[in-house]
This record gives sequence, structure tokens and C-alpha cells, in this order.
Amino acid sequence: MNAELLSPGTARLVAAAAAAVEGVLAGRERPVALHEPEFSQAEAEALADCLQSTYVSTVGPLVDAFAAALAETCGVRYAVPVNTGSAALHLCLLCAGIGPGDEVLVPALSFAATAAAVAYTGATPHFVDIGRQSLGVDPEALGEYLDTVAEATPTGCRNRRTGRRIAAVVPMHAFGHPVDMDPLTDVAARFGLAVIEDAAESLGSTYKGHPMGGFGRCAALSFNGNKIVTTGGGGAVVTNDEAVYRLARHLSSTAKRPHPYRYDHDMVGYNYRLPNLNAALGLTQLRKLPDFLARKRLLASRYAAAIDAVPGLRFAAEPAYGQSNYWLCGLLLDAPDANEAASARDALIERLRDAGILVRPAWRLLSDLPMYADAPRMALPRARWTESRLVSLPSSVRLGGPPA
Ligand SMILES: *Cc1c(COP(=O)(O)O)cnc(C)c1O
Repeated sequence: MNAELLSPGTARLVAAAAAAVEGVLAGRERPVALHEPEFSQAEAEALADCLQSTYVSTVGPLVDAFAAALAETCGVRYAVPVNTGSAALHLCLLCAGIGPGDEVLVPALSFAATAAAVAYTGATPHFVDIGRQSLGVDPEALGEYLDTVAEATPTGCRNRRTGRRIAAVVPMHAFGHPVDMDPLTDVAARFGLAVIEDAAESLGSTYKGHPMGGFGRCAALSFNGNKIVTTGGGGAVVTNDEAVYRLARHLSSTAKRPHPYRYDHDMVGYNYRLPNLNAALGLTQLRKLPDFLARKRLLASRYAAAIDAVPGLRFAAEPAYGQSNYWLCGLLLDAPDANEAASARDALIERLRDAGILVRPAWRLLSDLPMYADAPRMALPRARWTESRLVSLPSSVRLGGPPA
């Protein structure tokens, strides 16, 4: 986007936004990545010990230890570590009984995996709008929308327009900001919907003091290299429901019935298990989560001070009812017109990237992607508003200061 096409006021806003971000990152070696992991001697030793044990694959004591530590972190009874967050979300949906002919409510503003996991099951994503502060599913707007298109029946919630069952809602805690779970749970109960959290970005975030991942039937976590805690690649299903736990574990390990040597499978299963080697990394990283959270809050407070000092800019702050892990920090450009906002956003991104600060836009709305052209959706004014105004900022823990 050519900066000359911007109005003088918008060009000034872009310059002020760039200066605010550059001020926070002054003295940092360029390029500054959007999000990079941090490792110390502890990870190197854990990996070396794991290699020494020869238990590097999908069976091993560290997987069980990692599962126990995750369950404790999320305040739930069970965790099933798997090899990606996408796999975790797929399993969550399967365990909630979702399949062909169903619709699943997902936020229009999310990473591709949220809708893809729905498609893996043969169900159809049904896109819903977000809140401006939470950046995630807005329970009030969702309730009003469902009142117009859906009806609760004895066999579940039916979409009057498509005739299909609306089976579940997937609140995604965007950038780590918790969705307002109490009213969302009320809406889900009113329509008989299962709640499945996409908590891929929100490990360590809390809602009214309780960790994310413990609110629905089950939740998916991700430990991809760009998440707050990484196993290289990985994820987990967390749940309080013993039946979900057993089924998720079974499906993740090729649905093989336990036996010392026979190959006997009773369902079409998946090879989704997390290797012990990755669990070694995850266990060490998870011990550092409190320190990671503290340093991310420090970084967030510096961005907030610099950004909120500029009229026309807003730092994407956590909602009052909870605490974000600030997985990603975000800046919102408050230009009134959507096209002008998008031009300003693109100009800011190019300017910062030219300066070695690798910022990115928010995701394209999933509802605009070609494979979901026919998917049902509500009006999405706030998802669209946010898409054209949000810039995600470098958010690695090391930018918040040295390890404790
Ligand atoms: C990271 C992420 C996932 C899962 O991603 P994987 O790369 O498969 O671990 C799912 N949903 C959201 C919103 C994410 O950000």
C-alpha cells in the first residue's frame, strides 16, 4: 500500500503508531520476530536425558508426566497430549459426537485450524461474530442471532434455515484474551449446544480466576513453536469428562485395544500421540509458564502505555473479567472508514517490517475463504471491523525482560 494514498491525518496516525511500537522495541536486535520460543540449559538437559533413556517415541514416562502437569495447569482432571493443536481440536469435536450433517459455531476471526477441524469431522462451520474487547465469540450477539435462526428441540438445536443440527460452539480465546464464558455457557445451555474451547492460544489465561481449558466439555491446547509453551509441535485435549478422556486417548492411539502383542483395533483411529521427546521439552517449558506470563504482562503494559498515549490508537487490552496470557499483543487503528483503516494497517505493517519489526495483520476472516463460501454465517460487523484494524506485535517472552 502506497503511503501517499493515505489522507494526511491517517499518515500521521501511521507514523505515530510506528513510533510507539519502535519506542517499546528500542535497542532490540533486528529483525524482531513476531513470536519466538525461549530455551535454556534446562531444555537441553531434558532432551539429552530423554535421548539417553531411548524412549523418544510415543510411549514413555514423560508423556504421562506432561499430561499430569497440563491437567493441573488447566485445573481439570484429565489431559491427553497429542502431536498438534489441530489434532487436539479434531479429537475434541469427535468426542463431542460431531459428524457429517452437523453445524458447529466458530468465530469468523480465528486461525484456520478452528474451522478446519470442524470440516475434518464432516460437519460444517457456522461463522459467528466477535466482541471488540475479547476478540472472541460475543455471547450476547450469538444469543440474539440464535433466537432468530435456531430452535431448541428435544433432539438438539436445529438451524431453521438449513435444517441441520447445530451441535456445538467453539469459543476461541484470541491472542490469549478469555471469552466471557458465563453468558456463553448460558446461551449454549439454552440451545443445547456442547461447548468446546479452542484454548490453543490461551494456556495460562484465566476467566474470573479459573484457568482457560476447564469451561466446556473439553478444550484443545497447542504447543506449536509460536505458542507460549512449546513442544516443537504438539497439543492436548483437556477435560473433566472421563468418557471424553478415554475416547480421546483411544482415538489418538490408532484405536488399538490394549494387548501385549496383538493388533486389534475397534474404531478408525488416528496416530495423534505426542512423542516422549516432545514431552521432555513441554514439561520443562511448562515449569517456566509463571515466569513467561509475568514477562508477557510486562511487555503488554509497555505496549499499552505507548499505544494508548496516541489518540486514534488502542492497545488490545484484556477484558475486565479475566486475565490474558498476552500470547500476542495487538494494536488497533481507530480509523473510522474500513478501507482507510485497512490502508493504514497495511502501511504500518510495511513500515515496521522495513524497519525489521516483523508485525502481521490479524487472520483473514475464515468466512471469506473459498472453501467456506457456502457455510452459514451471521452478520459479522465486529469481526470485519477488527480484521481491518488489528496489527499483531512482536510478543516473545524475552522482550519482557530476562528470565527470573
Ligand atoms: C495454533 C492454533 C491452533 C492449533 O495449531 P497447531 O499448529 O495445529 O498446533 C488452533 N487454533 C488456534 C486459534 C491456534 O492459534
